[in-house]
Amino acid sequence: MINYLYQEQNWQSQLSDLITDPLELLTTLELSPDDLLSGAILASEQFKLRVPRAFVGKMNVGDPYDPLLLQVLPHHLELEDHPGFVTDPLGEEAANQFPGILHKYKSRFLLTLTGACAVHCRYCFRRHFPYQENLPKREDWPQMKAYIESQPDINEVILSGGDPLTLSNRKLAEWIERLESIAQIKFLRIHSRVPIVIPNRVDKELITLLKNSRLRIILVIHSNHPAELDDFTCSKLSELVQHHITVLNQAVLLKGVNDSAPVLVNLSYRLFEAGVMPYYLHVLDKVKGAHHFDLLSSQVNDIYREILANLPGFLVPKLVREIAGEKNKTPLFGDSTF
Ligand SMILES: *Cc1c(COP(=O)(O)O)cnc(C)c1O
Ligand code: SF4
Repeated sequence: MINYLYQEQNWQSQLSDLITDPLELLTTLELSPDDLLSGAILASEQFKLRVPRAFVGKMNVGDPYDPLLLQVLPHHLELEDHPGFVTDPLGEEAANQFPGILHKYKSRFLLTLTGACAVHCRYCFRRHFPYQENLPKREDWPQMKAYIESQPDINEVILSGGDPLTLSNRKLAEWIERLESIAQIKFLRIHSRVPIVIPNRVDKELITLLKNSRLRIILVIHSNHPAELDDFTCSKLSELVQHHITVLNQAVLLKGVNDSAPVLVNLSYRLFEAGVMPYYLHVLDKVKGAHHFDLLSSQVNDIYREILANLPGFLVPKLVREIAGEKNKTPLFGDSTF
């Protein structure tokens, strides 16, 4: 285990020292490049390889089917076209109100402050999304504030991605202060995978910032497999929970990664040990390049039925799909249409 090295290193230097070269990733894991390298290089031209070393440290050396590796290693299957798998499955390009704001559900909207993520997940529906043209600037704030105040149903802002925890604490503090100045905003949600891939992102400054806000803070992390939750990561998550920050988890059901009820049952228990509640289990968005992670609806139902039978109800994540044009995430199960 090379992991302990990252427990001492601050998150900023970890974020500026990501693995982006497929050959380096394979050799770090002592995998023979022969079978995997050429596909990885080709696929990374479309969506770059990007993975923090602390996350690689949780992978099994020598295992080409490691469930964490499969989430980040570009694969030649991504280059195949499949009917129904498109670049913008959720129609988000059309749904943008103006830069940074994606308001599709009544009481809450997504606010994108950065297009950057610490890790590139191969199944991500945002792999084709043109972020860079779409970020709010400081001078957009008065217009954004006016928009929020014209929509009295809004009581929650969701910082989403990109990944908001790739921003500095100073920048986050500026935005939190802006949002706090709008009386109708009660909740601030932060959707982030950074605590899983660079646990040191949960530093003292961040905790202080979040616990001192007048907003009720909900951090929604993204972990798909219990191997992502080593003791160090769990200790950081527990620290947040001890400071009265609500921490929830969303996972995506992925063929070859976590398409097994025992794995998902362990994931829920492991999260709960750290004080984190399972929230959503998403079925895959049909994004171009992610077809090899897709499962049949009958397989999804079988897995979910087994989870239900093996977990207490409070540890069962809600099985959902996001459907373009719907007013909320759509609950699934026993439904043959997905
Ligand atoms: C997922 C999502 C949300 C948050 O939905 P919850 O069900 O409250 O977690 C909000 N806005 C958009 C556009 C979303 O896609
Ligand atoms: S938005 Fe989330 S799922 Fe997508 S690449 Fe970034 S961290 Fe991964």
